[in-house]
Amino acid sequence: MAEIVLEDVSRVFPGGITAVEQLTLQVRDGELLVLVGPSGCGKTTTLRLIAGLEPANSGSISIAGRKVNRVAPRHRDVAMVFQGHALYPHLTVRQNLAFGLELRRGRSLRRGWRRWTNGKPIDGHDIDRQEVDSRVQAAAQTLGVEPLLERTPAELSGGERQRVALGRALVRRPAVFLLDEPLSNLDALLRASLRSEIKRLHQSLAATMVYVTHDQAEAMSLGDRIAILDAGRLQQIGQPLEVYRHPANRFVAGFLGSPPMNLIDATVETSRSEAGESAVLRGGGWSVTVEQRWLPGEAAGGRVVWGVRPEDIRTNRTVPGPESPAASRQSGRVRLAARLSLVEPLGDASILHLVPPACNTASPAGENRVLLMKTDGSGRAAGEQVEVWFDAAQLHWFDALTGRSIHGFEANNR
Ligand code: ATP
Repeated sequence: MAEIVLEDVSRVFPGGITAVEQLTLQVRDGELLVLVGPSGCGKTTTLRLIAGLEPANSGSISIAGRKVNRVAPRHRDVAMVFQGHALYPHLTVRQNLAFGLELRRGRSLRRGWRRWTNGKPIDGHDIDRQEVDSRVQAAAQTLGVEPLLERTPAELSGGERQRVALGRALVRRPAVFLLDEPLSNLDALLRASLRSEIKRLHQSLAATMVYVTHDQAEAMSLGDRIAILDAGRLQQIGQPLEVYRHPANRFVAGFLGSPPMNLIDATVETSRSEAGESAVLRGGGWSVTVEQRWLPGEAAGGRVVWGVRPEDIRTNRTVPGPESPAASRQSGRVRLAARLSLVEPLGDASILHLVPPACNTASPAGENRVLLMKTDGSGRAAGEQVEVWFDAAQLHWFDALTGRSIHGFEANNR
């Protein structure tokens, strides 16, 4: 059992900077939890608090059922892989991999180490030479660095160095792995391939892992669950798709997704016609008519933030023929006239920038807001007037003041 529990943990640095504020979260035994958020939100500090490299000002941290606030890092049974590689440049890959275990053995590969460890095992685990060799071999095999064992770090590529850094954690067989942006120095292709390796590794080890990244796509693809932080506070924790589909607040909605959710601040007016009651959302240069039943009660007659994911917006080409307002209402479709201000082809998809029809610049100033739409986009050109639509059921609603998610009547009953 290597469950990690943080209860009400805060870390305030000298000078009064609150890096982590009343953080409560649980990392389940054998889980890969990803901490994700923008730069400076407290991810690394959280990891360092778990590792014992940073003291908590308040709150409790437990690992495997044992409160560790006062336990030294080396007795917490955690291994940390940092940003960058942190390998010893003068040692071979084999020696780098064995380094931590050699310290445990209290034996040295060099004289200086013997002096440092005073010739004694530091954490009471004596590991024999055969065990060191076999762990190094096994880690090298798992990470595909066997042919590189006799090279020094200078003779390795960035990806190979990162594998060795992971291997150094692996050979220790800790109860908990803490990984701090381990892929941040690598190019996109290598990142993607090492990311899959880490996922496979986690599945085969079934070890508890906490992985820090600022990259939401990496978080989504890696995590059993993801915890989103902002300004030192936990915003939401859950399975990636659950959080993606049901963001708890405006911050999470605007952070996850590529591009993230469109969010528009709007005033709500009620309009009545023979076809029924509708709400008109005015804001960002857009005027969106939604059947009243979709509107959250808390938003009626006030202000609200509505959101729609770029991939949930469709162009009129995919609507089978024109629809009467009554049919639109029945189908729950929200239709919008727009002008296409920019097309960004990505290969497998395109990002279309939509601006209100009367807005004639590509980067609208003032009130006007761009809606981003993700589509196959074939044959679209900037300047076109288009009609787009989305299902009212795909609308997300947020409180204009607090930013927290609110649900419409229909959403509550789905
Ligand atoms: P990044 O993604 O840029 O690494 P992060 O989310 O990991 O950021 P932290 O490194 O945890 O963020 O930092 C959180 C906040 O605490 C930041 O405002 C940072 O400037 C501050 N901070 C971090 N370490 C210290 C320190 N030793 N002394 C003072 N302030 C610090």
